[in-house]
Amino acid sequence: MPVLVMKFGGTSVANLDRIKRAAKRVGVEVAKGYDVIVIVSAMSGKTNELVGWVNETSPLYDAREYDAIVSSGENVTAGLMALTLQEMDVPARSWQGWQVPVKTTSAHSAARIEEIPTDNIMGKFGEGMKVAVVAGFQGLSPEGRITTLGRGGSDTTAVAFAAAFEAERCDIYTDVDGVYTTDPRITDKARKLDKIAFEEMLELASLGAKVLQTRSVELAMRYKVKLRVLSSFEEQSDTAGTLVCAEEEIMESNVVSGIAYSRDEAKMTLISVADRPGIAAAIFGPLSDAGVNVDMIIQNIAEDGRTDMTFSCPTDQVKRAEKAMEDAKSAGDINYHDLIADTDVAKISAVGIGMRSQSGVAAKMFKTLSDEGVNIKVIATSEIKISVLVDRKYMELAVQALHDAFELEKAV
Ligand code: ADP
Ligand code: ASP
Ligand code: MG
Repeated sequence: MPVLVMKFGGTSVANLDRIKRAAKRVGVEVAKGYDVIVIVSAMSGKTNELVGWVNETSPLYDAREYDAIVSSGENVTAGLMALTLQEMDVPARSWQGWQVPVKTTSAHSAARIEEIPTDNIMGKFGEGMKVAVVAGFQGLSPEGRITTLGRGGSDTTAVAFAAAFEAERCDIYTDVDGVYTTDPRITDKARKLDKIAFEEMLELASLGAKVLQTRSVELAMRYKVKLRVLSSFEEQSDTAGTLVCAEEEIMESNVVSGIAYSRDEAKMTLISVADRPGIAAAIFGPLSDAGVNVDMIIQNIAEDGRTDMTFSCPTDQVKRAEKAMEDAKSAGDINYHDLIADTDVAKISAVGIGMRSQSGVAAKMFKTLSDEGVNIKVIATSEIKISVLVDRKYMELAVQALHDAFELEKAV
């Protein structure tokens, strides 16, 4: 039998009625002759609640216990989904990550999937089971402890299962009916795309569009998984939603395909560092060693042999970055007057593979923001994206203005 993977996110399993509705969708695919692997998230809001309990109990928590607690939301929905399917006379059972087992690294709260043995579930399909319901987001470390894959990780569970079981398709059911030109919550001019290239989706996801976890797109690209995003709230056809696919499958692409934003970026400025050979290495080496993911960098023009160095990093790494810089200063490796952290910023990015062959995108982006009176604090570019850091209060305005400027309301 061909295998299909169907993933239901938090809002799609938010209560018993929604679980029933999702189970009916699964029933439709079973009736078509598929063996189905269903990946479920926790009910919406549940994971946040669990994370809150962890932080309240122990601010500097043991990450192994964090994972034990935070992974539990998915256990409940997996069991409920299996029961709901059984009530519909569809042969189904649930699996927690450790039972499969979804083997991961031991990087707690950000583990990577290393292997998914298929024999266990395949054996059950062979015995007449039609649906394997698997708790998303969780796995098992080599030490035998429960791990989680990072927020939004059920998407990655789904794609990894699709790759391991050579599924015909991996359908990600969520609360929007596909991937849009920007977050439809920010502007009602956002348009759903019928197709988007893996590389564009990868950039959009890593720059803040949380519709898919970045790692899930990486895996889909590597293992050529046919990945589709669609709504669990609407009647569906085989062509509904957005197909995430190879660039070659898209006939005509826009120069800019989408605008992403992230509130989770901080701007850090080292005031008055010595402008000498090796200074960048002396700053960014320790940051990297401390696990700080630096994204954008600006070095100002030097005056009297001193300069300011600005970089951006995720807001939850600010403390780690500060400590790394203080340690480097105490060790005498660098010298600076002050380190200023500005967490009241947002990163806005324009993404499109068309940028490779068309110039002028950056100029248009900067002009648009300047016409709106939005000051750009930091800039970073790559082959298919341009990102800017702006004051957080301008975030929505900047996204809307750029969406207009690149005429994304006409995108398909
Ligand atoms: P789920 O719980 O199903 O995993 P998420 O909340 O993780 O759903 O992701 C879906 C959300 O992603 C949407 O509700 C939407 O607000 C947001 N989003 C951000 N950028 C985009 C985009 N470009 N296209 C579609 N949705 C987006
Ligand atoms: N429940 C987890 C989270 O909220 C995983 C997921 O939904 O993908 O991050
Ligand atoms: Mg999600």
